[in-house]
Amino acid sequence: RAKSAGGNRSELADPEADARAITRHGLTTALPTALERGEFFIEYQPLVHLGDGSVRGAEALVRWLHPQHGVLGPDRFIPLAEHTGLIVPLGRWVLEESIRQARAWRERYGEETAAGPLRINVNLSPCQLSHPGLVQDTVEILERAGVAPDALCLEVTESALIGADDDLLKPLRRLAEMGVDIALDDFGTGYSNLANLRRLPVNVLKLDRSFTQGMQRFPADPVDLKIVEGIVTLAHSLDLAVTVEGVETGAQAEQLRVLGCDTAQGWYYARPGPPERLHDLALMDATG
Ligand code: C2E
Ligand code: MG
Ligand code: MG
Ligand code: MG
Repeated sequence: RAKSAGGNRSELADPEADARAITRHGLTTALPTALERGEFFIEYQPLVHLGDGSVRGAEALVRWLHPQHGVLGPDRFIPLAEHTGLIVPLGRWVLEESIRQARAWRERYGEETAAGPLRINVNLSPCQLSHPGLVQDTVEILERAGVAPDALCLEVTESALIGADDDLLKPLRRLAEMGVDIALDDFGTGYSNLANLRRLPVNVLKLDRSFTQGMQRFPADPVDLKIVEGIVTLAHSLDLAVTVEGVETGAQAEQLRVLGCDTAQGWYYARPGPPERLHDLALMDATG
């Protein structure tokens, strides 16, 4: 009897859903002070050239060191920040902090790395794209840090650009003209027409992790391989470089290299980590 009463109660209210909503609400209201208090930090994950194994740069991935909940990944708070608009100042902070970091790498290790100065990839949310200050903020941040635009790659997801009108593409086009690389992130998860790529100001395709996951089986599904091969061929014919996400094994890396992918990122090389780790990885190439 008691059991069925309990069962009925949980049909009326879902305590877990309540807890989730409370956390969501709590996190949302805590976001602005978190930015003021400096609770966000950035981890860097190396981008490795598949041809020679050298570290070419890193992607900046933001985290929140929450005073009660510990370290939270971006999936927990980026959607909330997008919803409230805090993503604009937060995204600007990520850009500023990671470009400052790129400058520091350059100053300390610029000539010592195997592949020259390390480059920096920064994720942009759709809200930042439609914010009028994007181009000017980016230019100012680069100038203040003394970093050339071609050391920066901005990553925008395929879904953010699907059906984007010219107004949304204009700031990206201006940044691209200045020499900033634009990458289409999580490529293959949306449903963009491949021909559509021609009108987008992008010069890098980042193949989504789902493709590399399909390659973990051995032997890999030949159809999966054909699809990746086709995408790489098309990308190269449009002068786009191809980066792959989520490379977890050496076998995957080798397969992707053979398929013609240019750059890779994933746990096989390194998990996202503090900036000092990148120094070591990049220097290791130079001596190794
Ligand atoms: P993303 O841009 O596609 O970043 C790659 C994600 O894959 C990262 O998750 C990274 O930690 C994870 N990853 C890397 N290598 C591997 C691997 O070998 N295996 C597996 N299973 N996962 C791997 P993370 O750090 O949780 O970031 C998630 C997403 O949050 C990012 O996806 C990006 O869209 C977004 N994000 C991160 N930082 C920012 C930011 O500063 N601004 C904005 N707007 N979005 C951000
Ligand atoms: Mg990304
Ligand atoms: Mg990605
Ligand atoms: Mg992804």
